[in-house]
Order: sequence, then C-alpha cells, then structure tokens
Amino acid sequence: SEERSLNFLEEIVEEDIASGKHGGRVLTRFPPEPNGYLHIGHAKSICLNFGLAQKYNGKTNLRFDDTNPVKEDVEYVDSIKEDVKWLGFEWAEELYASDYFDKLYELAVTLIKAGLAYVDDSTAEEIAAQKGTPTEPGTPNQYRSRTVEENLQLFADMKAGKYPDGAKVLRAKVDLAAPNMHLRDPLMYRIKHAHHHRTGDAWCIYPMYDFAHGQSDAIEQITHSICTLEFIPHRDLYNWFIEKLNLFDSHQYEFARLNMTYTVMSKRKLLQLVDDNHVEDWDDPRMPTISGMRRRGYPAAAIREFCERIGVAKRENMIDLSLLEFCVRENLNKSTWRRMAVLDPIKLVITNYPEGQTEMFSGENNPEVEGGDGSREFPFSKEIWIEREDFMEEPPKKFFRLGVGLMVRLKNAYIVKCDSFVKDAEGNVTEVHCSYIPESKSGNDTSGLSPKGTIHWVSAAHAKTAEVRLYDRLFRVEDPSNEEGDFKEYLNPDSLQIINAYVEPALADAQMGTAVQFMRKGYFTLDKHSTANKLVFNRTVTLKDGWKV
Ligand code: ATP
Ligand code: MG
Ligand code: MG
Repeated sequence: SEERSLNFLEEIVEEDIASGKHGGRVLTRFPPEPNGYLHIGHAKSICLNFGLAQKYNGKTNLRFDDTNPVKEDVEYVDSIKEDVKWLGFEWAEELYASDYFDKLYELAVTLIKAGLAYVDDSTAEEIAAQKGTPTEPGTPNQYRSRTVEENLQLFADMKAGKYPDGAKVLRAKVDLAAPNMHLRDPLMYRIKHAHHHRTGDAWCIYPMYDFAHGQSDAIEQITHSICTLEFIPHRDLYNWFIEKLNLFDSHQYEFARLNMTYTVMSKRKLLQLVDDNHVEDWDDPRMPTISGMRRRGYPAAAIREFCERIGVAKRENMIDLSLLEFCVRENLNKSTWRRMAVLDPIKLVITNYPEGQTEMFSGENNPEVEGGDGSREFPFSKEIWIEREDFMEEPPKKFFRLGVGLMVRLKNAYIVKCDSFVKDAEGNVTEVHCSYIPESKSGNDTSGLSPKGTIHWVSAAHAKTAEVRLYDRLFRVEDPSNEEGDFKEYLNPDSLQIINAYVEPALADAQMGTAVQFMRKGYFTLDKHSTANKLVFNRTVTLKDGWKV
C-alpha cells in the first residue's frame, strides 16, 4: 500500500517537517493505562503511533499512564509490553507517568504560586452543581479566593496525608464561565489513600488524567500526541497547562477510535467477561484482545494489514469484523501448510482393499508455493474417516461427492466408488462402503476416470485424535453496547463448539504459533493447552466468509 494517499496525520507531520517545527523531529507515544489487556482498538493506535514515527524517521515512547492506583497492576504492564513487541514494534523508551509524580507535584505548586490553582473543600456533588450548565456560567465558591500561601499549605498537607479521601481537591483556576465545560476550574489532584503498583505508599494524592497526560507529553517532548475523538474537548485544557507552565509545545491530535461489529472494546466490559467467566481469560481466542487473537492464530502481520486498510478517520465509524477475518485469511493462504483433518467423521470401508495392508502416500505441503514447499507422507488403509457431509443417502444432482453409485477421488490417493452404506437402529448412517480402483493411484492414474469431486480423509488405524475448538462471533448482534439492557445479554451462546476430530499423523508435529490449513475446513493453530498426549487446535478462521451480510 505504498501508493495510498497521505492520511491527515501524515499531512500534518509532513507540514511540520517542512516548516522545521521541532527541528523536523518526530516523537510519538503510545500511552496505555495498565488496567487491562490491549485489544484490537489499541492495535490500531499502536500501528498509527509507531507507524507514523517509522515513516518519518522518528521514535515512539511506550508510556504507561498509571495515575489511577486502584485498577492498575503489573500483570497488565507485562502483557502490554509483550503485545506491543509481538505486533512488531520497538519503543524508544519505556516510561511511566508515575515516574513524573514529583515533577507533576512541582508543576502544580508552580501554578498555585502563579494564582492559577486552588484547594477546594467542596464535595464532588457541590463542585458539579457550581460548574453551571453549557448555557449558564458556573458560580465561584469561597475556596476560589484562598490566598497563595493558604493554598500552598493546604496542598502540602494533602500530600502529607492529613486529610481523608475526598476531603479536598486541587483545581486549576481557569474560567468558570468558559463555554468549554472542561475549562471550568477542572480538577488537578484528588486524595486517594491507595497503594500504587510502582510508587507503593509514597503518595496519597494522585493527578487527574488532564493534568498528568499533557504534562507527561511535554516532559518527554512528544511532538505529536495522538488520541481519540473523545479528547477533543480536553484539548483547550491540554494547551492551557502547557502555556501557563511554559512547557515544551506538545500538540494533541485526534482521530476516530476503531469500533468493530460483533465486538465490545472497552476494557471495563472485557474485564466483566473475564470476571463473570463468559470467557476463559483475557486471552480467550474469542476475545478481541491482542493476546486472544494471537492465541487464536491471527498473524501479527494480518492485524497490521487490517489497521493499514481501515485508514485514519476523523469521524466515528464501524468497521466490519469480516474485514479483519479477510486480512487473516489472505495472510494465511500464502504461508500455511495443508493437512488433512476430519472434523465430523463417518467411517468409509474399502471392501476390496486387503485387510491389514498399509500404503504410504504423499502430498505437497503448500500448493500455493512453487515446488509445494516440500511434502509429507501419510498412510492409507482399508478403513478411513471422511466427513459426514461428504456422503448423502439421497444425493441430489450435481452432488460431486459420495452416495450410492457415485465416485470421488480421495485426496492424493485412489478413486473410490460407493456401493452401499450401513445404518444403525436410529437410522443414522454409520458406515459407507466403497470399492477402490487400483489403477487410479494419484500421480500414476491409468484408470481413465475423472470424478469431479476430491475429498480429504485420514486412515482410521493411523489417525491421531485431536480436540478442535470452533469459534464463532462472541456476540450475536452487530453493536452489543448500543442495545437495550446489559451488553452481556447479547453474547452468542454458540461462540464456542468443542469437537473431537481425527487428524493425519503429521499433525502430531504441529508447532504452537504456526498455522496450518485443514484442507477444505479452515485455518487452525495449536492451542496453548495442547500437550503431546492431547492435541488441541483452535480454528483461526474458516476458508470462506460463512456469514451472509
Ligand atoms: P478502553 O476504553 O478500552 O479502556 P482506553 O482508551 O481507556 O480504552 P488506554 O489504555 O487509555 O485505554 O488507551 C491507550 C491508547 O489507545 C489511547 O491513546 C487510546 O486513545 C487508544 N485507544 C483505545 N481504544 C482505542 C480504539 N478503540 N481505537 C483506537 N485507539 C484506541
Ligand atoms: Mg485512557
Ligand atoms: Mg479506559
């Protein structure tokens, strides 16, 4: 996609480079709050921030926005680092907003000294009420006129732990009549006697997002601070702090967050799915998390390609989940080895094949590659497994598979002709009986027959059993967050189906992280719970889009 036109952020960066702003330097940051695992929306932000810097010879910092001690945890920090690396990006520096707590405190004191911040004893409700409405200005309270000395003392006492949670806050003295509500004396610090995953019990006051984020950008000398559209109303405040504190001139730019059909993307909601056991964990292969997609077998390159294709929008939109699946399919089709696996087995008995005999056949690993990318061998014998759907008791016209009187080629082996079938007491077909054509051996076929269908199979005596996990969309509606009631009511009850399959012996050597194509069935990868004694495969994606739009 070299030829695509520039997105609006690239245009801004190119103008800045051309005008010599910041000496042509580009430094972006990816600023996750370590309160959950990263999801596909974060992947978009990562690709954007790191991609922009890469394109213009710049750098990207990984900054943990860890100013809210209560929900944050090192487990999340570790998973975020792993996910960013796996996606294929390298950060310049690993930084933590909590490392700036001293500096941020100093900056707050600077504002107090300039008469631009004050300690307020009001409750949250009182502050909200005094803020007014978008059409009516707010009203100043008695705390707004506290002296600088009083404010300095009270703020020091807040820091020293003299007050309980909620007793006081530090507010910026901006403008109680500002049309932008975010400028009506916003909160800078709150009291929270909570243990922080990095600073421990050193602090009992914590900066609010608006005071921490922009100042962290400025401390790091970030040139382009990219965030999502919800932050547009915060931009004036972002600029106000930087201007009043005379800090490095970082700028905030906003783009539309990624929304995707059949998906929820807020960490709070994803955490509920984990806590309420609707999914196995954050890395459940049905989750839109990076770790879930990795476990499911989505290649990092396919996720990057998806992020590139959706582009950078300035308006909210909804991307179809099928596009992500398309990118995964396209990527896997080029690289994966083909293997035979029967997911819904029915036995096929070759009545004229000698009992106890085994023949070895071979097949190319990947017909998409010149030379087939090598080959592997697999055994053939009198009894084999085929897919139940490849046989019909009463086949309609143009059914090019098995039914009495019909012929198919068994992939890489012989042509067989169906003669009869066996049913159990309930009327279920239990065996299909065929005769094989000895002269039709694949690669050396002198039979003169050319059946239209080819089906996959595995030798019953040699097959390995495997647990196969078939995944479907986690939600049954396009936009679960926009439906009435709780989003969890819209979970798809059939999002996971566990089956036992018969697979060809070579699949015992499958490697975790390496996808395979089960011929005619889809792309699969070994799950982390797989063992030598019990193979477990995840279906990454089907071969074709089975959903009708
Ligand atoms: P969530 O709503 O899932 O909790 P968040 O925005 O609070 O997400 P952060 O950890 O603060 O999560 O996000 C880190 C970065 O990723 C931010 O710059 C944020 O704007 C960006 N980001 C989060 N969700 C999306 C999304 N759906 N699309 C694009 N960027 C996103
Ligand atoms: Mg956030
Ligand atoms: Mg959040």
